[in-house]
Amino acid sequence: MNSEHLKALIAFSSQKGFIWGPEPEIYGGVSGFYTYGPLGKLLKNRIESIIRERFVRAEFYEVECPIVMPRPVWEASGHLAGFSDPVLSCAKCSANVRADEFIGEKFPELKESLRAENILKVVEEKGLKCPVCGSDFKKEVLQHNLMMKTTIGISGESFLRPETATTTYLPFPRYADFFRNKLPFGVFQIGKAFRNEISPRQYLLRLREFTQAEGQLFIHPDEKKSYYRFDVIADAILPMVHAGAQVGDRFNIEEMSLKDALTKGYMKSKAYAWTLHFAYELFLAMGIPKERIRLRQHRSDEKAFYADDAWDVEVNLNCFGWTEMCGVHDRTDYDLSQHEKFSKKKLEVSLEMGKVKPHVLEIAFGTDRPVFAILDLFYSKKAEDEGKSMLCLPLDICPVQVGVFPLFRKEGMPEQANMIADDLRDEFIVKYDETQSIGKRYLRAAEEGVPFCITVDYETMKDKTVTLRERDSELQVRVKAEELRSLLHRLFNNTVVFSELKGAVKQDSA
Ligand SMILES: [Zn+2]
Repeated sequence: MNSEHLKALIAFSSQKGFIWGPEPEIYGGVSGFYTYGPLGKLLKNRIESIIRERFVRAEFYEVECPIVMPRPVWEASGHLAGFSDPVLSCAKCSANVRADEFIGEKFPELKESLRAENILKVVEEKGLKCPVCGSDFKKEVLQHNLMMKTTIGISGESFLRPETATTTYLPFPRYADFFRNKLPFGVFQIGKAFRNEISPRQYLLRLREFTQAEGQLFIHPDEKKSYYRFDVIADAILPMVHAGAQVGDRFNIEEMSLKDALTKGYMKSKAYAWTLHFAYELFLAMGIPKERIRLRQHRSDEKAFYADDAWDVEVNLNCFGWTEMCGVHDRTDYDLSQHEKFSKKKLEVSLEMGKVKPHVLEIAFGTDRPVFAILDLFYSKKAEDEGKSMLCLPLDICPVQVGVFPLFRKEGMPEQANMIADDLRDEFIVKYDETQSIGKRYLRAAEEGVPFCITVDYETMKDKTVTLRERDSELQVRVKAEELRSLLHRLFNNTVVFSELKGAVKQDSA
């Protein structure tokens, strides 16, 4: 872990209005709860709109299900019995630690192979003591359930959902009607989920309240092997680390086509390969650079019991190294069978050849992690002597798209700049700034990730031309104010490159 980078990133994100917390800050803060400040929320909205657009384009329909659900739902889903972390409690001061993380931090080599049943053995062998007071732990490992409990009405025991997926499955008979008993069909949900983590310490990577985006493809079990959408992506090359290639902590990435991966048996079905490819493309679309992404298959010892196959999209973060961002799971008919059993309602579709219970292929991730990944990967502190930070965000996800500045607060420049800003606001998110020197304003805009800035100066008042400046190259060009809109359009659509604009030159901003 690069804690220097993380510290700088947290300070930067909070100072610039991206992420605030842990909240409630004025009451001292509780870990695992954060506020998205104005720029953070704009960034998260951009990421979520890319997710929405991708799912919709792939014919997934969005639904919004309740966050609170009564006890039987979580008995059926398995969360009540099995969704827990092992806890060690101090015999003297009663401090609690999450056993697997506590041991993993002290002995990273044990982390992968640690099983619940040998936690006490490890504690004894290594002589582990309470981190608070140094006393012995109690001779038992408690299971701490991660669901947050609440009450419906006076006594209805219920829980805040720990994932959106379960709530997505519940209206299944309605889907069967809506989709006219045809398979496959896709449904997705973007919404809040809650996990009562014991002591989350990884900033946006481990939250007690977070946003999930989960897509579910309901498919006929027989169609998985012949899925019609596979042919289009058969030759796509993906960076894969299959289960058999994970020896010790050395994971070799194989660049391989999905067709070859299927032939080699890395994946079992064409439909699964399609969902994995969808997830990969989605992370590219969110602006994560290709060389930072790999797809890693779960080994049999880490796979959830219901999953027939599971791969993670992992991103190589500056702060934390390779980090899980998204899980793609073949959940078979596990969920529908469970809810059928507990609700006593048939969860099937009626096809011509009879009734069938579909399988579910799931693409599951949170939207907070990609936001963190974007900040982690694109934040840089360039010239250390000046303390100059930059946020070189890809154009598609910039929270603020254009900055408009009057060179001075006089001779009609603010009025002219405001007119330009207002005009551009029809199509872009625009920031108007007249405080401090023009050089400082350019720096501030670069820190906020604003890709293009416009300056109104003396010449503007004479000939209606302005300076347009690009963040990353620091190139400037003189253009007519009336042409700004169409030029910005072309820049954002990548149909024109700034450095190829006529008259683009590098100028000292100070
Ligand atoms: Zn203690």
